[in-house]
Amino acid sequence: MREYPIDKTRNIGIIAHIDAGKTTVSERVLFYTGVSHKIGEVHEGDTVMDWMEQERERGITITSAAITAFWTPQGLAKDKKNEYKFNLIDTPGHIDFTVEVKRSLRVLDGAVVVFDGVAGVEPQSETNWRYADDFKVPRICFINKLDRLGASFERSYQSILERLTPYAVRMQIPDGEEDQFKGIVDLLVMKYYIFEGAHGELVVEKPIPDHLKERADELHGVLIEKIVEQDEQAMTEYLEGKEISLERLRQIVRKATIENKIVPVFTGSALKNRGVQFMLDAVVYYLPSPADLPPVKGLDASGKETEREFKDEVPFSALAFKVATDPYVGQLTFFRVYSGTLTSGSYVYNSTNGQQERISRIILMHANERQEIKEVLAGDIAATVGLKATRTGDTLTDQENTIILENIVFPEPVISLRIEPKTKADQEKMSLSLKKLSDEDPTFRIKSDVETAETIISGMGELHLEIIVDRLKREFGVNVNVGRPQVAYKETIRESAQAEGKYVRQSGGRGQYGHVWMKVEPMDRGAGFEFVNAIKGGVVPNEYLPAIQKGVREVLDKGVLAGFPMVDLKATAYDGSYHEVDSSEIAFKIAAATAFQEGVKRAKPVLLEPIMKVEIIIPDKFMGEVTGDVSSRRGRIEQMNDRAVLSLKVIDAKVPLSEMFGYATSIRSLTEGRGTFTMEFSHYEEVPNNIAQLIIEGKK
Ligand code: GDP
Repeated sequence: MREYPIDKTRNIGIIAHIDAGKTTVSERVLFYTGVSHKIGEVHEGDTVMDWMEQERERGITITSAAITAFWTPQGLAKDKKNEYKFNLIDTPGHIDFTVEVKRSLRVLDGAVVVFDGVAGVEPQSETNWRYADDFKVPRICFINKLDRLGASFERSYQSILERLTPYAVRMQIPDGEEDQFKGIVDLLVMKYYIFEGAHGELVVEKPIPDHLKERADELHGVLIEKIVEQDEQAMTEYLEGKEISLERLRQIVRKATIENKIVPVFTGSALKNRGVQFMLDAVVYYLPSPADLPPVKGLDASGKETEREFKDEVPFSALAFKVATDPYVGQLTFFRVYSGTLTSGSYVYNSTNGQQERISRIILMHANERQEIKEVLAGDIAATVGLKATRTGDTLTDQENTIILENIVFPEPVISLRIEPKTKADQEKMSLSLKKLSDEDPTFRIKSDVETAETIISGMGELHLEIIVDRLKREFGVNVNVGRPQVAYKETIRESAQAEGKYVRQSGGRGQYGHVWMKVEPMDRGAGFEFVNAIKGGVVPNEYLPAIQKGVREVLDKGVLAGFPMVDLKATAYDGSYHEVDSSEIAFKIAAATAFQEGVKRAKPVLLEPIMKVEIIIPDKFMGEVTGDVSSRRGRIEQMNDRAVLSLKVIDAKVPLSEMFGYATSIRSLTEGRGTFTMEFSHYEEVPNNIAQLIIEGKK
């Protein structure tokens, strides 16, 4: 039985730049929605969302768990409690955790984007905004920290319009700013509110103060026009001078927000307990329920594209979007149900890897407690424990009617680190713990170096790996020594070439005979690897094909220049010969490896390196030093823009990752501590010759 109709469910995320106040806003949300009974300030280190110890210390949110809460908009009857169910999906602000942002965007239906009212739009707000665009996530904005010195609603609102979207529409204006921030005018209903009670929980309506009347009237007019523009019928009535009901206006805003044609903007101060309740009302009014969105797409068992409606009575399908290690219950798998119903004690099929899983318990995570539930329905989010083979991004489905939902595409790691256990005891726990961490995070990989018996971990950036090592210690009690971070170089070829590989031993007894001709050709950047069998007329029997591919694969994995894996090339086996008695798999494997290696060596092999997209924000006066420094790091400056606020400059550049180690320290010292930067992986590019030589000689 459905306790909450699907149209009264909201799966939302709060997206923000670090420090914009996401944690504080989330806490207020949990407080007002009645689950969290105490407001924990971030600096006290006892927030509800950040339950991982190190997140508290770093003050950033890394994991994306989901928390369930309930809300009734303030306008609705007082006796109606818990009218709406919210699943609050946590999203991180740090760019090294792009994958976390993406995976949460994949499963949420709408987002609240929080801004710092002093800084307005910041670099990561832009990056995250673009991701949200990619996933077509409907959004509302909340300009936070209006009580802070230097805060400006108007300037922040303009920065959203200029830098993020022309569709932003202000729904409120503040009464006063900085320490004069007293209340909020709702421009739609034309009412004024202040916030009383220890935690602002009492929203008190007052007449609009005189000094705001004129401006509020004017902006109300602008708002109504922007709304009716979205609806032809309403527009006609408006032009005829007819009054359009509040409910109808809200419906129009809702529809336009869901279609990404309007982005409503709200404001307040989470810290001072102002405005968050209206933001929650807006989630109800304007952000979609699962039923407002198109059916989810996927591939059925025969690989045909298919759809699933958000209905309880159709076959079950869900996406596992987060695997987390919980200190109390062990491994928790968070999943979002797209269709059907799941009951505890039942079996599901993991259609991504073909394994069956038993769902022993279904758990709803509240802010301060876990609630065991019997079933979970379409559109909802819940967690389960004890899944054995399910990783982040996998689809769970009904056994008979399988579907593979569109997966989240994760980028390849660009940086790696050698680690070794400090003691024997650490050694035993290390591999198990690393496996758990990699189940949680698909951008984190583990590899062992067969030659040195060392373990190599790789990920998306320095901070990413730092945090992994930290978690090994804190959560799993594993102490490790770490090496220097290494760039994940790759190898490829520039030209086509052909080569022969022959492995023949025929001197007495049973011999060996393998013989292959191979052609190698470059492919486009990002194309990966392709093997083609073009051997005709049975000159080499098909049974040796797997061995030939294995030989190629071995060379592919370790490259020919400096031990890096090869990408973006095609290998075609097109000729060869065999011997009735002496041919063996081993012989063909060796022959293929020789042919492939020789071919690659003739095809002008080169090294590729990851290039990062870097955005640097600095006060004008440091322009010369900073751009000079970027150039000396082999960086290409692509754009320089003025930031309206505080005469700042924004530099967009592409810089090789290998030149960006420790950049945080450099930018600080170059700019007297005032510069900031963000970076993310962009693409792979050829390493210039002189530098490639150093890498090959092991000098870099
Ligand atoms: P997050 O990094 O986005 O999660 O941001 P936090 O919620 O941790 O907030 C960063 C800092 O800003 C903390 O010191 C908060 O106390 C402070 N902060 C958050 N919201 C407000 C606000 O509305 N006004 C003021 N003045 N400070 C705030």
